[in-house]
Order: sequence, then C-alpha cells, then structure tokens
Amino acid sequence: MWTCPKCSEQIEDQFDSCWKCAGEAPQFQSIFSKPFGGRPKKSEEASAAEIPKVIKQLKQSAQAGNFVVFMFVPSDSKDGEAVNLQYSIDSGVVGFDWLLIGPRNIADRAKVIDLASKLGFSLEEREENGCRFLRMTGSGISELGARIIQDVYHIRRNRKLDLMTQGFEWQP
Ligand SMILES: [Zn+2]
Repeated sequence: MWTCPKCSEQIEDQFDSCWKCAGEAPQFQSIFSKPFGGRPKKSEEASAAEIPKVIKQLKQSAQAGNFVVFMFVPSDSKDGEAVNLQYSIDSGVVGFDWLLIGPRNIADRAKVIDLASKLGFSLEEREENGCRFLRMTGSGISELGARIIQDVYHIRRNRKLDLMTQGFEWQP
C-alpha cells in the first residue's frame, strides 16, 4: 500500500495513481540511484522515533551506496511534492543527507541549515553523480533527522512515514 500525497487515500501497490483524485504515487529520490529516484519496490514505513533503529540496520548492512529515504508530503504543501530525508553509507560511514534535488528539499534548504546550526551541527555541501546535497556524519545524525521532521514539518514523532530502503530490508 502507498498513501496518496494529495488526498491521503491508501492505494494498492499495483496502481501508479490514486483512483480518487488521480494523484501520483510518491517517488523517492537518492543520489545513489539513477535516474535519482523512482517508485519504491516495496512499501515500508517508519516513524521519526524509529530513526535510530533504522540507522542501526543501515549500518549493519555495511555496504557503500546503501541508503534509506524517508518520504512525506508536508501538510502545508500546495503542490503535493514530497520531502526526501536520506541516510546513506559513504566511505564506510553512515551519514545524514539533505538532497538538493526535489523542489521542496531545495526550497527548505535554509530551514534545515538553520535548525542544524541551532542544534550545534554543521552540514557540508557536497556533490555526487552531478547532484548537490548537504551531508553530516557523527553522533547527532538521528537527532537531526528526527528534529527536522518534528520542528520543520510539525509531524508527530510516532507518525509512520513512507520509507524506501536500498541494500537491506527494514525490520521494525
Ligand atoms: Zn488521492
């Protein structure tokens, strides 16, 4: 099942668009997949509160290029564009990535940088496969992701969000 980004209807996986409002299935984005995203093959869900556990499982998968993307459409969205919040393994280290691909991620770049600096974290701007993104590694990465979901998008800590994993299967 996937959740329609426009009307929140639950839709069976075999359909690409919503029967109720014709909204399109959410697409994830990642710097490690070409063409930088697509439809998740399997529906998975996790909440902001589960980020530490998600990161732990990603870390255990231990392969460069493995990633996980949280996808959600903010409640104030006018265009139904999803936010993508990624964690990935690069050079053996799990990090938080704010991808500058989707319109909403690009629009909210300053808010994310602001929040990170308020928390005492710093994001480094990088480029991979021709895509720009902000990356942070270290012990604060799960808190940063959870706080972005909570403080920037006002989503409850225990609300389930769509999840896309690459290279491992999320075990809630
Ligand atoms: Zn719909």
